[in-house]
Amino acid sequence: MTEAEDRSGWVKRPTAAIEGTGCTLEDYQALYARSIEDSDTFWAGQADRLDWIKDPTVIANWSYDPVSIKWFEDGVLNICHNAVDRHVAAGHGASTALIFEPDDPAGEVRRITYAELQAEVIRMANTLRKMGVTKGDRVTIYMPMVPEGAFAMLACARIGAIHSVIFGGFSPEAIAGRVEDCRSDWIVTADEGLRGGKRIPLKANVDAALDKVSVKAVLVLRHTGGEVAMTAGRDHWYHELSADVAADCPCEPMQAEDPLFILYTSGSTGKPKGVLHTTGGYAVWTETTFRHVFDYREGEVFWCTADIGWVTGHSYIVYGPLLNRATALMFEGVPNYPDHDRFWQVCDKHQVNIFYTAPTAIRALMREGEGHVTKHDLSSLRLLGSVGEPINPEAWRWYHDTVGKGELPIVDTWWQTETGGVMITTLPGAHDMKPGSAGRPFFGICPQLVDAEGEVLDGAAEGNLCITRSWPGQARTVYGDHDRFVQTYFSTYSGKYFTGDGCRRDEDGYYWITGRVDDVINVSGHRMGTAEVESALVLHPNVSEAAVVGFPHDIKGQGIYCYVTLNADVAESEDLTAELRAHVRKEIGPIATPDHLHFTPGLPKTRSGKIMRRILRKIAENDHGALGDTSTLADPGVVDALVEGRRNR
Ligand code: ATP
Ligand code: MG
Repeated sequence: MTEAEDRSGWVKRPTAAIEGTGCTLEDYQALYARSIEDSDTFWAGQADRLDWIKDPTVIANWSYDPVSIKWFEDGVLNICHNAVDRHVAAGHGASTALIFEPDDPAGEVRRITYAELQAEVIRMANTLRKMGVTKGDRVTIYMPMVPEGAFAMLACARIGAIHSVIFGGFSPEAIAGRVEDCRSDWIVTADEGLRGGKRIPLKANVDAALDKVSVKAVLVLRHTGGEVAMTAGRDHWYHELSADVAADCPCEPMQAEDPLFILYTSGSTGKPKGVLHTTGGYAVWTETTFRHVFDYREGEVFWCTADIGWVTGHSYIVYGPLLNRATALMFEGVPNYPDHDRFWQVCDKHQVNIFYTAPTAIRALMREGEGHVTKHDLSSLRLLGSVGEPINPEAWRWYHDTVGKGELPIVDTWWQTETGGVMITTLPGAHDMKPGSAGRPFFGICPQLVDAEGEVLDGAAEGNLCITRSWPGQARTVYGDHDRFVQTYFSTYSGKYFTGDGCRRDEDGYYWITGRVDDVINVSGHRMGTAEVESALVLHPNVSEAAVVGFPHDIKGQGIYCYVTLNADVAESEDLTAELRAHVRKEIGPIATPDHLHFTPGLPKTRSGKIMRRILRKIAENDHGALGDTSTLADPGVVDALVEGRRNR
């Protein structure tokens, strides 16, 4: 326990670090009340910070039954103009927009000013135009984590094309499926990507995908200089095609509800959905959430370690920071290359002020010991963030104590591809924190907990997390399949957006995400979130990571099956098995005693680092033939090893 923490488990917001912050608890309460009671005025006020070609007069116009969601619908704007051009026009062309840190620590750092960003985006936009891209066309972006990825997104936005970014780690099958699903005729890619010293054959993957689907043209960035095949008439080098394009390109006036991008969800629960976001609401939402959640101050360096292939990268590497004229760091590499201190070395090197990462990275780095952290000067850091999965309290404390020196606020931000931006979090100036709890609803957000029958649960309770009112950044549909949108999110509980996540609200009104509802297990009539059992396991000093699923059990209905990854220097043994079972018993209670402990060096994860419990459930059930869609798995080899391990039990 640190000094800042009292016995009740609260961690006080660190007053020293919040001087100058705009938002106190009283501000939060007043703004939150206004965002609900006088929603249109509140959101019109937020929208005012953007440049509109035509100001919106209709603010919210939505219904969850039937499902139709519109915000700022008669407004006209261009999000690229707002993220780039307006800052240059206001005299900030010389401020740094992006800092690029390459995979190789000895490689060349790029610092891109807003004026340079404008020129680069124009160059890309005119190149896309030259290829025939027009307003409304879908452009697939399959790029490494280099600034040109962001240029391509902004260039699409500039000319009114809809971008669909595919994470650079995906396979040809995954590319083909997504290109086909949104009928995209153009692909922007690079010769190769670089991650952890390894070359990723991006262009070759695109070529393999194009054996299955066809497109009109492929634009290829020369990045590593690696050898690639170019198909005449279809494939173009970016440096060649862009050589003679014009140096100006007006921003296309867009209706607020014109589509901005399609993004396929990470696929933790099944076939990825092409989530569609539109222009005006998404711009207002990412601008507002970024400013409040990260308490961004002029001149600070903000680093979100996500990939631009995920919504986190869209909202908090590209749009949110740039709409706020922030300096965003873009990192090509991985946390453990060339060594486990890479994140902290980069924080030191670029004097990062705000650092935003995922629990999976925190757990992995925690496993390697604190020496990697303490050897770097992290005094520039002011705020830490977490996103992507529930963060186990043990990992939260390590993050807070070791990286944050027991002083820095942590924002644990709960949100989804479908929500466009942060929905539940503490705000750094306003809220005390509780390790493992995401915190309180952001402005305009009305969470509601319901039981399986749809009965609303009040006060301190645990249930399924729904949102009862729309917010500007809400996804509008699943591209080309509005029925699937309605079915997935609005049919379980009519008139509400159902998140798919389980959640507990405590007596202080703090929200604790317990995991996906599909992952809740029922042992002898007791409902239990898998996150709870996992956190208990991770609390044990020898455990690095754990994933828990239910399996059919003759007596209990469901039994508890635990996959456990031990720390680097620990060997599995029967004693340890017994110890871990006793440990969970002690932490949660006898009802949570694991039935099976399955030690494994790795867990199946999505490319975004999330544990795929869907597959673990099938393995625990001995249902190895029906593992479902595994195309978004980071390392399919892990699954084979687990199946083998299960057979031998
Ligand atoms: P799919 O919808 O295809 O199964 P996915 O849900 O993993 O994929 P994302 O939209 O990237 O795709 O992830 C959102 C989910 O991640 C949330 O629904 C929640 O389960 C989890 N999540 C994100 N942030 C947090 C957080 N701070 N705390 C707890 N869970 C979180
Ligand atoms: Mg999801």
